Amino acid sequence: MNILVINAGSSSLKYQLFDMETKEIKAKGLCERIGIDGKFTYKPQLEGKEALNAIDVAMPTHSEAIQAVLNALVDEKNGVVASMKEIDAVGHRVLHGGQKFSESVLINEPVIEAIKECIPLGPLHNPANLMGIEACAAVMPGVPQVAVFDTAFHQSMPKSSYMYAIPYEMYEKYGIRRYGFHGTSHRYVSGQAAELLGGAEGTKIITCHLGNGSSMAAVKDGKCFDTSMGLTPLEGVPMGTRSGSIDPAIVEVIANNEGMTPSQVLNMLNKKSGVMGLSGVSSDFRDLDNAAAEGNERAQLALDVFAYSVKKYVGSYAAALGGCDAIVFTAGLGENSPEMRAKIASGLEYMGIEIDLEKNAKRGTVDITGANSKVKVFVIPTNEELVIAMDTEAIVKAL
Ligand code: ADP
Repeated sequence: MNILVINAGSSSLKYQLFDMETKEIKAKGLCERIGIDGKFTYKPQLEGKEALNAIDVAMPTHSEAIQAVLNALVDEKNGVVASMKEIDAVGHRVLHGGQKFSESVLINEPVIEAIKECIPLGPLHNPANLMGIEACAAVMPGVPQVAVFDTAFHQSMPKSSYMYAIPYEMYEKYGIRRYGFHGTSHRYVSGQAAELLGGAEGTKIITCHLGNGSSMAAVKDGKCFDTSMGLTPLEGVPMGTRSGSIDPAIVEVIANNEGMTPSQVLNMLNKKSGVMGLSGVSSDFRDLDNAAAEGNERAQLALDVFAYSVKKYVGSYAAALGGCDAIVFTAGLGENSPEMRAKIASGLEYMGIEIDLEKNAKRGTVDITGANSKVKVFVIPTNEELVIAMDTEAIVKAL
């Protein structure tokens, strides 16, 4: 079975074609500047096939983008499948499933309606995800499509974890509550960790998805108990350009002083804050490491604030779960920065958390638990696209 995984944004669309027998990627790529001047990238993963790198392809809408993807995949010379018939299903990453979706679903009219109803909760992403779904339906009629929601895994949180202490009507009228994101990643890495522990039953796992966007999750018996992102991905630990949690009164103070609207302040909190805003150097942690090594104090401060925030979540989630069997690091920074992992774990020895510095330097899925550590510490590379493909396969096989 070949499954196409689509992650559609407002002007971009990432794709990967999986061979589900081998779980390997046959081709992947990116459509950018949809509706502008259309740039198309195609990277076949089979020997002897040539890539296309940001070539000009007219893509006035997502439909032309999907058509360009299909044309490349079935291309006589550089394609990876003989015809469109070999694409058995499409799996879509959908940002916001609100309270309606606690797992992946086959897309039909009622599901599309429900995703539309979640637009107020994910105003930037859900319309783009829908464009991707509608484009596939138009260009690949009859091919089953599945929606995999970033919020779904977190739907198991108890009400005491997801309610904000604001007037209850705000929840009833507008659905204002914690939803959480990166659910596919937290589900995958907590599941892998549970396997390493010998089964999910009775386990308490803290997952740290640390990338450009970062979030934490507390997972009990394989189910999400709490997570750091909230109504939107802005809440929680500081990120590349997002502030993470701040005193909400700051919005008004900045708005008044700078003559900005609340939306403009929120834009600042989403795009100009986080380690970028603090350091003034970069949103990329590699740049921060380099700048800090050269003596840049604000870059060092940004790294310190980030690590401190993650450490506080580890402590609070251990309290929330009543203990912790394993901590998992994943995503760009969590997988690739032994220094950041060590910085986060330092000082947590009293909680029985210790990292083995030698194992910590290794790559891939590694158990970096220190010799005296009571809590297991794992690095587990996330693979959200593969999870989307596997969910899609399971749903389509059951049809
Ligand atoms: P996204 O949230 O966009 O999916 P990723 O999970 O790919 O992001 O993480 C990207 C981030 O990971 C980069 O911005 C960079 O800060 C960080 N990163 C990647 N490799 C390293 C590394 N070797 N050392 C430190 N940080 C790294």
